[in-house]
Amino acid sequence: NEYADISLKDIDQVAKSSFPLCMRHLFEKLREDHHLKHGGRMQLGLFLKGVGLKLDDALAFWRAEFTKKVGSERFDKEYAYSIRHNYGKEGKRTDYTPYACQKIISSAPGVGDHHGCPYRHFSEDNLRAALGRMGLSSRGMEDVMDKVRNKHYQLACTLTFEAVYGTSCDAGINHPNQYFEESQKILKS
Ligand code: SF4
Repeated sequence: NEYADISLKDIDQVAKSSFPLCMRHLFEKLREDHHLKHGGRMQLGLFLKGVGLKLDDALAFWRAEFTKKVGSERFDKEYAYSIRHNYGKEGKRTDYTPYACQKIISSAPGVGDHHGCPYRHFSEDNLRAALGRMGLSSRGMEDVMDKVRNKHYQLACTLTFEAVYGTSCDAGINHPNQYFEESQKILKS
């Protein structure tokens, strides 16, 4: 769609300005560790496909990070296939769709995993720190934490969106790609 076509050279800037917290976290961890486990690769990979990252760019993006750790032969052997698979180019050629919030919130990340929804899966301290880095005021943060305590994770994300962009989001957040698109609409208007 018209807002969603990101290229590799913009990806860091766009991640900072428009990704919801779940995807910012995966993105930052990938840049930091040069690796993500399967659940993270699926959650972030399909999201990036949804925001319009083309297959060739996606391969270049993952390759650049993973080969800092595993070497390009192993990348081609073990990881490139599943990226092409996500784009429907391998296996049953299903075109996989990005995960909605509900699916992400109900996932069960284990030790060393970075997928999931931070509002649901982060410790309170980590969540507060992450919200601080997104620029929330202490008042805004308390409103978000209140929703989290009541297990209203998507509402917590919606309040974060409203605080970050200074505008209301009446529809509420129910999909990371929707968060991205609404954000791009605001930033590009
Ligand atoms: Fe991501 Fe949805 Fe959680 Fe927001 S509510 S952080 S978009 S999974």
